[in-house]
Order: sequence, then structure tokens, then C-alpha cells
Amino acid sequence: MKLTIRNLQKTYPNGVQALKGINLIIETGMFGLLGPNGAGKSSLMRTIATLQEADAGSIFLDELDVLKDKAEVRKILGYLPQEFGVYPKISSELMLDHIAQLKGILNANERKQTVAALLDRVNLYNDRKKHLGTFSGGMKQRFGIAQALLANPKLIIVDEPTAGLDPAERNRFYNLLSELGENTIVILSTHIVEDVRTLCSDFAIICKGEVLRNGNPDEAVKELNGKIYSKLIDKGDKLGYRGNYQVISEQMKSGKLGIRIFSEIDPGNEFLLAEPVLEDIYFHQIASKPDTIAL
Ligand code: ADP
Repeated sequence: MKLTIRNLQKTYPNGVQALKGINLIIETGMFGLLGPNGAGKSSLMRTIATLQEADAGSIFLDELDVLKDKAEVRKILGYLPQEFGVYPKISSELMLDHIAQLKGILNANERKQTVAALLDRVNLYNDRKKHLGTFSGGMKQRFGIAQALLANPKLIIVDEPTAGLDPAERNRFYNLLSELGENTIVILSTHIVEDVRTLCSDFAIICKGEVLRNGNPDEAVKELNGKIYSKLIDKGDKLGYRGNYQVISEQMKSGKLGIRIFSEIDPGNEFLLAEPVLEDIYFHQIASKPDTIAL
């Protein structure tokens, strides 16, 4: 399956140009969407999810015209928005049963089996009688995935799903998404850049409504081999370094400032050659757009 996005544009009534001609091809597997706050990620995902109109451009899922045949798209779409609200005083089993009815599974027996199978799949079957209000963040997100999977979707969109999850919950959630990515298109937006490298076969960095970078994460990282250098400096010296080198990230480490720079040649001055990571690509690309705070 292939999602083809061509020249997608959106300007909100307040004049903000959120999408400035997005072009992307997204194939079966996990696709990571990176970008600073306000980049246009949610606008893009809401448009693919048929929740808002574009001003121009097209989106096709194979032959299906996503912007026109919204009802058809909704039948094969699973969407987990950033804020997934739940009714606190209802059990996961009952809630999923209600949503299944809304999605058109009218036969009670079929519904019961579907709900049980889905709760089992997201590892919530033993908690099926508990009220949703008592669920941890990770359990709520897994419940969110269960509801997104109700219609056996071919396209799954998850908007920053791991915010507030602890590392173990995040792993469980990602394992679930990876399994889905084996035969579905899963579009995942996240602020955790290295998760994209671990999980996604393809990714894009968007910023100010434009795609800055698109491709395979490992290949992108390879391009920086031999070009990233690091050094621990006194934080008072940082302006000098920023003036003399192409600093792409700075991070405090036990009282010192760890800086990473991009340099085609050995910069000397006690810089050490560093193993590039996807974050280097991210910061390097974002730095090419002035006035943007990267994360
Ligand atoms: P991201 O998901 O990358 O943080 P968004 O798509 O939410 O980015 O936002 C992109 C830009 O569009 C931002 O400047 C944001 O303030 C603006 N924006 C988003 N939604 C609306 C809206 N409904 N009305 C007006 N402006 C919006």
C-alpha cells in the first residue's frame, strides 16, 4: 500500500500557513514524523485522517482519493489523536463495545468476540472490567490503540502517543505499533528522535509547513559519518563556539556543556569525532531554518 501526498497546502483563517506544499510518499511500515512544535505535523495528520480540509493538493491511498472519498477512508482508518479522552467511570470492555457499535458492528456476538480479541491484543484483557479512570497513561494509550484497531484499519495515525508514558510502557506501546506496521501504514509523530531511528523504516522532518528531509533514518545518519564532532566546554564559552563553529546541539553534562558540531573537516581544538545519531540530522536540518526552536 502507498499513501501519496502531493503539494498539500493549508492556511488557517487566522493567516497561519500550516502546510506549504507537502510532498511525501508513505509505504507500508512505520513512518516517523518529526518536527518542532508548530511545524504542521498535527495539521498534516488531521488532513490525512479526513478531519480537516486542505486548500490545495491531493492525497491518495493507492487509488483511493482521501480528500474526496472521506467515508471510504474512515472505514479503513485508525486514528489516535494527541489527547485521547476517556470516560472515567466506564470499563474498557463496555467502552470498546460502544465504539464498536458506533463503527457498525451490530451483531452482539461478533462484537463481544472482537472486543475480547482486541483487549487481548493490547494486553488489557485482564483489566477489562476496570474503570478507564483507574488506568495508567500507558494503559490508556493501549486502549486508544484498541479502539483505533476496531475497524481492522489499513492506515493508522498516531499523534505523539508516548507523551507521559514511562519507559516500560513506551516499549510495550511501540512493540504493538511495530507489529501493526508489518502489514499496515503506521504514521507516528513523536518528539523522541531516536525512537524514529529504532522503529521506523522511513521518516520525514517537517518545519514551518515544509518537508526538510525525507528518507530512511539509517541512511540519513550514515551521511553524517566523519562530520560530527563533540567537546565538553565551559558554558560561559558557548557564544564563542557558536560564532566559530556550526554548533548543532548543546547539552549540560555534570556542570559542563557538551556541544556537537557539524564540520566537513577535522576542526582540531580538542574536538573528538563522534558517532552520528538521528538527532544530529534533526538539529542540523532545523538549524537551516532560522528562528526555530528545535524541540
Ligand atoms: P505541530 O503538530 O507540528 O505542533 P500544528 O499542525 O498543530 O503543528 O500547527 C501548525 C501551525 O498551525 C501552528 O502555527 C499552529 O499554531 C497553527 N494552527 C494549528 N491549528 C490551528 C487552527 N485550528 N487554527 C489556527 N491555527 C492553527
